[in-house]
Amino acid sequence: MAENFYDEIEIEDMTYDGTLQIYHYPCPCGDRFEIGLADLLDGEDIGVCPSCSLMIKVIFEVEDLPQPPPGPGQAAPPVPV
Ligand SMILES: [Zn+2]
Repeated sequence: MAENFYDEIEIEDMTYDGTLQIYHYPCPCGDRFEIGLADLLDGEDIGVCPSCSLMIKVIFEVEDLPQPPPGPGQAAPPVPV
């Protein structure tokens, strides 16, 4: 693995935007790293800054994540292929 991460960030050090359902963290370029809650729940752990393309590795436990609100009338349905 030759990934070049800026840093490893604990999820509790990031800011959660409950409206957009993304976590963000200040980037040294002045923008911020972003990773979606859905991405985290999907096993992704890489936050990317859209301005400078730096990356962070997010340290988290799935159990620590807020659960996404279930869709209307549906509780965590399996995804049809
Ligand atoms: Zn940046």
